[in-house]
Amino acid sequence: MSLQQPIGHAPEGHAAMRQLSVDQAPFDRHDGPAGKTEDKSLAALFRIAGALQTSLDIHLIIQAFYGGLTDLFGACALEYSHHERNLTLAHGILRRHRCNYQLTLHGKALGEMTISRRKRFAKAEILLLENLLCTLVNPLNNSLLYQEALAAALRDPLTNLNNRRAMKTTLAREIELAKRNRSHLSLIALDIDHFKKINDNYGHLTGDKVIVEIAHALQSAVRSCDIVFRYGGEEFIVILNSTDSHGAHLLAERVRKTIASNPVPYDDGEINISASLGVASFEHFDTGKSLFAKADTALYEAKRKGRNRTEIYQGQAGVLESGAGAELCETKTIAEASS
Ligand code: GH3
Ligand code: MG
Ligand code: MG
Repeated sequence: MSLQQPIGHAPEGHAAMRQLSVDQAPFDRHDGPAGKTEDKSLAALFRIAGALQTSLDIHLIIQAFYGGLTDLFGACALEYSHHERNLTLAHGILRRHRCNYQLTLHGKALGEMTISRRKRFAKAEILLLENLLCTLVNPLNNSLLYQEALAAALRDPLTNLNNRRAMKTTLAREIELAKRNRSHLSLIALDIDHFKKINDNYGHLTGDKVIVEIAHALQSAVRSCDIVFRYGGEEFIVILNSTDSHGAHLLAERVRKTIASNPVPYDDGEINISASLGVASFEHFDTGKSLFAKADTALYEAKRKGRNRTEIYQGQAGVLESGAGAELCETKTIAEASS
């Protein structure tokens, strides 16, 4: 950890730097504040350490830590950021006097923390702060690991896309938003044509490579607000918010043409790939299941009509909502559900 704060009459911006390992003994009574202050600090230290053990939620961890800091140091501000996680949490407004720490645990970067207040930090306060940070790093590490595990559970390891589990939650949320805001919402279901033959002819690893290529094609074709999922095997779903069926159809066609015109390299040659796509748009009575089933029905129609094409759902949504399709999409893959 390194720390910076203006010292004495040093000009604005002048910084003292210190390094402190978070692996060191957490509290040295002889260096700490004396007498009653020391007891108070020790009690606060244990209180904060206790609070930090109660959650794996990084927001609550940082909030508990900030609560402890304000108890001990009065009005202050805290900013925690972890660039790799794209995470910044802030409490209060940063002031002139700042202690800035790179947090690490056994060499693993845990992010950066700045504690700040109007009043200069006394040496004893800095020592106390650093001891508090020593109590923070383990709970912080646990919450980062937990966050990582949660994210991994929603990701497909082959393509790094969101997986089927993530799709269910996201679709339910997008349906709610579309209902509340009376906004458009569309779904594209994509299935690679004759994929089994690709596996049979070129091997499973090449099949995997094709899946990754299609994932890239999809990801680069959509807008940043569209969400792509690998639903299963060679099947993908795109959720397009604020998009009507016309817009979704245009996008689906763009994807289909990109796939068809970009063969996947294989040895000295290449493999021609095509995909079929189904498009469906949200109607006020739709649920996640019925919207999915509509896109799936359209996809099935595209397969039936010869593949390498896009179809838009045209049928009666009410029938699907309560019908077998809605049940099937819960448990089966797109192709299975539509066959
Ligand atoms: P259709 O045009 O009707 O969609 O025919 P298809 O051959 O693409 O569909 P089918 O459902 O018969 O075959 C899908 C194949 O995808 C069967 C399965 O072994 C293969 N598969 C599923 N998951 C993976 C995977 O992760 N990697 C590879 N390489 N193959 C997979
Ligand atoms: Mg297929
Ligand atoms: Mg399939």
